[in-house]
Amino acid sequence: MAGKDRKPTTTDAGIPVSSDEHSLTIGPDGPILLQDHYLIEQMANFNRERIPERQPHAKGGGAFGHFEVTQDVSKYTKAAVFQPGTKTETLIRFSTVAGERGSPDTWRDPRGFSLKFYTSEGNYDMVGNNTPVFFLRDPLKFQHFIRSQKRRADTNLRDHDMQWDFWTLSPESAHQVAWLMGDRGIPKTWRNMNGYSSHTYMWVNAKGEKFWVKYHFKTDQGIDFLPQEEADRLAGEDGDYHQRDLYNAIQRKEYPSWTLYMQIMPFHEADSYRFNPFDLTKVWPHADYPLIEVGRLTLDRNPTDYHTEIEQAAFEPNNLVPGIGPSPDKMLLGRLFSYADAHRARMGVNYKQIPVNRPKAPVHSYSKDGAMRVENVSDPVYAPNSKGGPAADPERYPEDATWQASGEFVRAPYSKRKDDDDFGQAGTLVREVMDDAARDRLVSNVVGHLKDGVSEPVLERAFEYWRNIDPDIGNRIAKGVKGG
Ligand code: NDP
Repeated sequence: MAGKDRKPTTTDAGIPVSSDEHSLTIGPDGPILLQDHYLIEQMANFNRERIPERQPHAKGGGAFGHFEVTQDVSKYTKAAVFQPGTKTETLIRFSTVAGERGSPDTWRDPRGFSLKFYTSEGNYDMVGNNTPVFFLRDPLKFQHFIRSQKRRADTNLRDHDMQWDFWTLSPESAHQVAWLMGDRGIPKTWRNMNGYSSHTYMWVNAKGEKFWVKYHFKTDQGIDFLPQEEADRLAGEDGDYHQRDLYNAIQRKEYPSWTLYMQIMPFHEADSYRFNPFDLTKVWPHADYPLIEVGRLTLDRNPTDYHTEIEQAAFEPNNLVPGIGPSPDKMLLGRLFSYADAHRARMGVNYKQIPVNRPKAPVHSYSKDGAMRVENVSDPVYAPNSKGGPAADPERYPEDATWQASGEFVRAPYSKRKDDDDFGQAGTLVREVMDDAARDRLVSNVVGHLKDGVSEPVLERAFEYWRNIDPDIGNRIAKGVKGG
């Protein structure tokens, strides 16, 4: 195409350049001149293209869409995003947990299911997974858990022995491990999996009444999974299988959707419930707290720049809007700090000014300065002030997502309820939810995993761990490993 029909290439300062292909040299055979600032800018920018990848959840993809409220749940929450008929722009990011940015999408792993709702009262984020539970219930163990799933110091290889060593010494992981080793450990596509808040949150209605809640985004495409052999094949043939599937579905206008249901527990029922309702390794059985429909999430727009819109997307569970609050879930309380801190470490203190993270609601904060700040701050720069600056409105926005607490400072596990144990719900999953074929695949998946590098004494502990979940499954796994 002739130069006239195209936009002229410029430097980042907008200065038109005279060549896309040739450095500035003394004669055609060089040397290159240091005054070629366009060449230098290209090389320098290239060297700085990558930002640190996320520590967990490095590999992922995402899309934009909207959430529409179809039912009336205003008696449970005053959150603007969940009022009847409200439609809110959303961003979602799906991911694996342990793999690096270039790792295959089809490795067995939980999947991240992170949402940002650009609500009229600020950004609301839900940092969920495709499973309703997690491996741990105390954030002090999280860093150690992730290290055990990633790479060894010496070989720089992932190591099943290290994974099972940690899991078998952390029996609270049993429910999540049983889930992971089953069919749902490798979803067919991101479109074919559910998303769960996993954590318990609080909802507060306009009268100030409080409820404990769990979110379930159920896929409208139907649940589907990849058998281990097919996942292994795809990991070699197309490492970006899930990312490609989502992008192509949206390009074909096959917009994936999820229906949001809630489990809702009246505030005071938490005191006497048979499970600790804030323990992240447990579900609330549906028979106790049935699903209540809220609305639909639909994805209908692909990003145009993966880096600015997905890689720099910052989801943080501390982004809770009026009508929604945290709960005494220790993992959640840890994450309220660690996510925002991870974003500051990866992208600098002003990451919320990157367009994908910027709220659609007006920002009137007193934060100022810092590296890469792009929005102007105006006086007054302090509060309280008599100069017309923003002022908090506790009448309209009271601190009401609260609960009472008292006690000695201790380092201790949660106190136990009647039905609290580490293996019970995992056993229910294996015995009552899975059918024979799913149980056979579970045994085969675990046997394959254990045979790949797990040695004594970890191996015997792994058999015992599974026998605690279910004696028959444990014996079958032991036989499968020893006999094969
Ligand atoms: P229900 O029979 O009411 O629910 C069972 C749930 O299991 C369904 O939500 C179903 O999800 C899901 N499920 C089906 N197959 C599998 C599988 N292979 N792997 C993982 N999940 C599967 O029972 P309860 O509520 O009493 O829970 C029993 C067990 O089910 C729990 O111990 C837990 O392991 C699991 N579970 C419970 C959930 C909860 O929030 N109560 C949520 C998901 C699982 P779907 O309808 O989407 O197919």
